[in-house]
Amino acid sequence: MRKPFIAGNWKMNTNYTSALGLARRLVEQLKGIDTVDSAICVPFVYLQAVSSTLSSSNIALGAQDVFYESNGAFTGEISCEMLKDVGCTYAIIGHSERRHVIGETDVVINKKVRAAIAGGLLPIFCVGELLEEREAGKTEDVVVSQIRKGLEGVDPERVQAVTIAYEPVWAIGTGKTATAEQAQQVHAMIRSLVAEMYDKNIAERMRIQYGGSAKPSNTTELMANPDVDGLLVGGASLKVEDFSAMIKTVA
Ligand code: PEP
Repeated sequence: MRKPFIAGNWKMNTNYTSALGLARRLVEQLKGIDTVDSAICVPFVYLQAVSSTLSSSNIALGAQDVFYESNGAFTGEISCEMLKDVGCTYAIIGHSERRHVIGETDVVINKKVRAAIAGGLLPIFCVGELLEEREAGKTEDVVVSQIRKGLEGVDPERVQAVTIAYEPVWAIGTGKTATAEQAQQVHAMIRSLVAEMYDKNIAERMRIQYGGSAKPSNTTELMANPDVDGLLVGGASLKVEDFSAMIKTVA
């Protein structure tokens, strides 16, 4: 049985005061909920402060990216060790905005996934197709290729640390959500791919989140699918009422 996992991705939003306020109100709202794993992925500069706010709660802390080297001359980058040091449990890796805006490749993403696991972080590894790829009937090819490349060299013992987030790029921040059927179809395909790459037990245990305009009004429908184990939430995670309502619905 997979425990549902709902994570918020604050992206490049909030400031010191609003980040702390958001975290504080979430802690109050989600007190006592232990049937759902929850996490918030906060801008790097506010991780430490938010970490203190979350310290006596069930809400885990995550970063939105991580670099694959552990220290040295990598100006502007942040290592796993640094993230662990400020209390992070999770790191989002390969988010579509990093793939398509920043230009991260599958090779870089794979290095990050491997480094995160080796460094004791739990990757939320994002995959998903562009609108033109979906329209050209290439969704499966794109997602399979991203997963094979992203998990290359990750051995069976270590892959259990990974949550895969299926995020169709056309649904991120656009208000367009994949239908429950579209999500389930890709999630089921991902689970069979993981079974093929590793084994059935690993695939059965692997949590696969959906992301892309998830909100309170579509949470029940999305989460009702047998292979949708959680949500990666952008916009709605910046609203305490919405994000906590989604977690309570799932709980
Ligand atoms: C995301 O940032 O991962 C995301 C899914 O964003 P949104 O929920 O705003 O579409």
